[in-house]
Amino acid sequence: MQVKFWGTRGSIPVPGEGTVRYGGNTSCVEVRSAAGTTVIIDCGTGLRVLGQHWASTEAKPIHAYILLSHTHWDHIQGLPFFLPLFTPGYEWDVYGPKGLSCSLKDTLSGQMQYSYFPVGMGHFTAAIHYHDLLEGEFYLKDIKVSVRYLHHTTLTCGFRLEVDGCVVVYSCDHEPYVAAAAYGDTPLTEQDKKHAEFAQGADLLIHDAQYSEEEYAKKIGWGHSTAEYVCKVAQYAGVKKVALTHHEPTQSDEAIDAHLHSIQDRFSKKMPGIEIFAAMEGQTILFP
Ligand SMILES: [Zn+2]
Ligand SMILES: [Zn+2]
Repeated sequence: MQVKFWGTRGSIPVPGEGTVRYGGNTSCVEVRSAAGTTVIIDCGTGLRVLGQHWASTEAKPIHAYILLSHTHWDHIQGLPFFLPLFTPGYEWDVYGPKGLSCSLKDTLSGQMQYSYFPVGMGHFTAAIHYHDLLEGEFYLKDIKVSVRYLHHTTLTCGFRLEVDGCVVVYSCDHEPYVAAAAYGDTPLTEQDKKHAEFAQGADLLIHDAQYSEEEYAKKIGWGHSTAEYVCKVAQYAGVKKVALTHHEPTQSDEAIDAHLHSIQDRFSKKMPGIEIFAAMEGQTILFP
């Protein structure tokens, strides 16, 4: 199995000299099994770069899958710029939670209404099937997908993908159920333990870590986590690698480095054998 990060930023794209290393594009992760089954998790602006890459390589699937955690802008804005949706011969199955009053397809078409964008979803020429997503389990060819609701400001799904003897868990966007869990060594309680159990034994946990403890104190209820919380989740779940992602748009590469180093200093002794890193746009992780 292979995991590649195409977008690691939260909330809004932030190109510029201060975000060159960790990247300015919003959430997008590609997971590919050894058999070639390809699942794209979230379609932030990183998706556009993935589409350009596929246009220049033979190693692309003809039938692939999209899992949307939710339909906030930073998780769907790449869709109108994703070339494979405008390419006949491609087939896509798109899964995501439905809106409060309409289907996933209708929600996605909203951002491509004429008031916001010149090209509507009717211009997609690939074969596209939309699926409203609920908690549960299903298979995408050889990949087993489990879905669990997260704690965010709208209905949001976390994903657990199992294939080739490996497990990857994606939890963006998510806020601790109990605000105290965002800080220091405060232990996880009931619902946050259940959230951690969803990642039990994962080889890789990709988790929202948008805020520092100081930032979180000012943004309780905004739907995001601290790296401190993610470390406790990882420790409780016994995961092997932790990718901190959905980086705060105001954080430069240097700020992310500094935050990561302080987290590593603070938690590495308590979490022997668990690797913590900050996800970088373009980074690929290979599992044997
Ligand atoms: Zn987000
Ligand atoms: Zn969100």
